[in-house]
Amino acid sequence: MKPPTTGGEADASPILCPSARCQDGAYLVGVVGVDGTIGYVSPLLQVDAQFVQRAERGRDPERRFRFAQPCAEGGCRNWDGARCQVIDRAMAAKAELPPLDETSLPACGIRRSCRWFRQSGAEACRTCPLVITDLPSAAMRAEITSRAALSTEAEDALGTLSRL
Ligand code: SF4
Repeated sequence: MKPPTTGGEADASPILCPSARCQDGAYLVGVVGVDGTIGYVSPLLQVDAQFVQRAERGRDPERRFRFAQPCAEGGCRNWDGARCQVIDRAMAAKAELPPLDETSLPACGIRRSCRWFRQSGAEACRTCPLVITDLPSAAMRAEITSRAALSTEAEDALGTLSRL
C-alpha cells in the first residue's frame, strides 16, 4: 500500500478509511484508551502479519485499536454513493461536542488522506476520537463470507461498521 501523505507534499495516495480492519499492511491510527477515546499514533505506523497475529490473541483488535486502509467506497455498506455515513452518523449523534479549530486537531498521522477529514474537516476530527470500530457478529460474518459474489473490498469494508 502506498504510504499516505501527511504533510504538504502532493497528495496522490489512496483515500483512507480511518475505521478499518486489523490486517497486514493496515495503518495504526490510534489506541483505545481506558476512557474509551482514541489516542492517536503519530508518526504513522504500518502493521505487519506478526502484529496482526499477536493482536488477535486478545479481544477483537478493532475494539482496542483503530486502523486505516483504503476506502472501499461502493464496496462498503456505509458508502451512500458520495459520502461515508459512519462519520456523518457519529457527528449527528455527538452534535453537542464543542467546536474544534484547525489549530487543535488531534495529532493524527493520516489527515491528508483521511476520508472523514476530506468530507467534514475539523468537524470530523472533533468526533473521531469517540468512534470505536465494530465488527459484524460471527453469524453475520459466516453468512456474508459464504456469498461467492462478495468482493474483497466489501469484506474489508465490513470492519468499518462503527459503534457510537
Ligand atoms: S477524522 Fe481527523 S483525527 Fe480522525 S482519522 Fe481522520 S484526520 Fe485523523
